[in-house]
Amino acid sequence: MSRLSRRQFLASTMLTATALSSCQANNKTFSAKKVKDYALMCGADIVGITSMDRFEGIPKLLDPRNIFPEAKSMIVLGFRLLRGNFRGIEEGTFFSAYNIMGHEGVRWVFQPVTLWNFTKLIENEGYEAIPIPDNFPWSNIDNLNPDEIGTDFINVNPSTFGKIDGNFSRPVSEGKPYPDVFFQLKVAAFCAGLGEIGYSGTFLTPEFGPRQMFAAVITDAVLEPDPLFTGKLCEKDKCKMICVKDCPSHAISEKEMVKIKVAGKELEWARLDFNKCSVSFHGGDKEYNPFMVTTEDEKGFTEQPYTKSRRYKMPPVYWYGRAIEGMRGCQMACMIHLEEQKKLKNVFKTQFRQKAPWRMKGKLKSKAELEAIIKQPEEKRKKIDEQ
Ligand code: SF4
Repeated sequence: MSRLSRRQFLASTMLTATALSSCQANNKTFSAKKVKDYALMCGADIVGITSMDRFEGIPKLLDPRNIFPEAKSMIVLGFRLLRGNFRGIEEGTFFSAYNIMGHEGVRWVFQPVTLWNFTKLIENEGYEAIPIPDNFPWSNIDNLNPDEIGTDFINVNPSTFGKIDGNFSRPVSEGKPYPDVFFQLKVAAFCAGLGEIGYSGTFLTPEFGPRQMFAAVITDAVLEPDPLFTGKLCEKDKCKMICVKDCPSHAISEKEMVKIKVAGKELEWARLDFNKCSVSFHGGDKEYNPFMVTTEDEKGFTEQPYTKSRRYKMPPVYWYGRAIEGMRGCQMACMIHLEEQKKLKNVFKTQFRQKAPWRMKGKLKSKAELEAIIKQPEEKRKKIDEQ
């Protein structure tokens, strides 16, 4: 596994063209180290490699070997979510950064650009390279609307949970999986030695805790795999399962687990109620959505299926999203805990949470009531607002 050194970090922030020519200048032999240097210089923050045999035993529809049976290695690239992306949500004053420069910006801009440059370097060496960003818009599993697939946090595991929607696609021949094969990037990250899957189901790394997203490249190049992660980041007895407690939608189960066997290890994480999670994430929780002003808004922000509600009032900037709720349990609370425990390498001069978190109070007014208040003279209006 490779981490970004200061020199590499500076290189990664320079123009990609500079990074590419630097990579090409060093191009003598093709090795795991060279591949990782390429990935870091193209823009990844962390990178690990797994051999494909570590996926042995996982369900057919989740097995990346079905995408490229001759593949020998998978390179998993981690992209940090800035701690600063959470600041405006923590203060309750700025909600755009998390989506545009974080959750969705990573998926739709930073990962594709990095993968584009990185896979070209691999193919220049004569090895095929399939770029896989954290977007799975088409899938036949879990009976989810294809519009809803694409998050790394779904408990997609047909052996214990998922269902196949036979209306969506059919295998091209007997024994083949339904297209499109979907695999969980957090499982790939585990196989590549980048960290562990926490109780909440969020992947945790020693660099950033829960603050990253992943992309992968499948290739026929034989590369030295990284050892599996042997550290322990998630200690639920120490944090008292703060991810479960701080999740406003109570979407993370306290007891029910999803299990999967991969790389010879049994992995498990809490079952997630994806619908509850999505409603809250997109602003359905009135205690955590300052844009929910009226009772009409409440209806709009919680409308089902949530693919409708997530377009209410604040349409997605990219395809998927807006994070009004800010992942308070699985990301913010977990990050705060791991930082306090001094378990993370990306350290900051100040602690993240400086005061008690905000929470919206009071009853929502109807639109008509609100309009009547807005028409009042300012002095009178202030008094009503204060009530
Ligand atoms: S909040 Fe605690 S229990 Fe939940 S994933 Fe993080 S470390 Fe694990």
